[in-house]
Amino acid sequence: MQTADALSRMSGLSRLEARMLLVRVLGRPTEWLLAHGDEPVAPELSEAFLSLAARRRQGEPMAYLVGEREFMGHAFVVTPCVLIPRPETELLVEAAIQAIIDSRSPAILDLGTGSGAVAISLALARPDARVSATDISPDAIAVAQGNARRLGARVQWWQGSWYGALPPESRFDLIVSNPPYVSSGDPHLAQGDLRFEPAMALTDGDDGLSALRQIVSGAGAHLASGGSVWLEHGFDQANAVRSLLVTAGYNHVVTMVDLAGHDRITGGTLSL
Ligand code: GLN
Repeated sequence: MQTADALSRMSGLSRLEARMLLVRVLGRPTEWLLAHGDEPVAPELSEAFLSLAARRRQGEPMAYLVGEREFMGHAFVVTPCVLIPRPETELLVEAAIQAIIDSRSPAILDLGTGSGAVAISLALARPDARVSATDISPDAIAVAQGNARRLGARVQWWQGSWYGALPPESRFDLIVSNPPYVSSGDPHLAQGDLRFEPAMALTDGDDGLSALRQIVSGAGAHLASGGSVWLEHGFDQANAVRSLLVTAGYNHVVTMVDLAGHDRITGGTLSL
């Protein structure tokens, strides 16, 4: 039988990645593994670990192999049906929280929720809020519902395409979205983690702006007076998104940069 340390060395992975997979397979906390790395691992668990390590060497994202990813301090279950939550998307949540800081029981809508990371983080940050979230993928909705249950968040889920998922008369104080904004020709789609993520969550199959355009054009019919929209977008799409919002009559249109210094989110307020 191999020890955990030997398995880690023979995996061909970094120590950190090997440790994350061992923690998953052994069902023990990291602290336990650090103290018991010299103990033999049962053959079926060794085999399970080595098969995950092989998948990792083929490029499968760690988040899918371990089955979860942390976002806003919460552990979200992720499967290949949903985009892996990104650290830069925390900026979207932070801007959203600021946008409703003075509202009591605000109504919030998250379009294209995926794992539910944004909607659930908002619901946990503002337990008084009424949070709704949509996704076109029933599999994504199932993942998001599971996350809400585990994390104790109250969110109303709607399956369908953008606003088409919602009752037509529904109104919100805040609409947020991290839509697919990678253009169909972007070489990043064929690189790294993105190869394993749902294409539908990454690209609009077009110029990268078509989902953002749809979201902005439909927002007016679903915003309460004085409501705000905050959208995540590509580093080179800030001008385009600002002009969509300005043209649609929004005020206080601003872009914020992520920790890497890239333009990442843009928002505005609609005074009707
Ligand atoms: N930020 C992601 C990436 O390029 C894209 C996510 C999205 O399209 N919403 O890795």
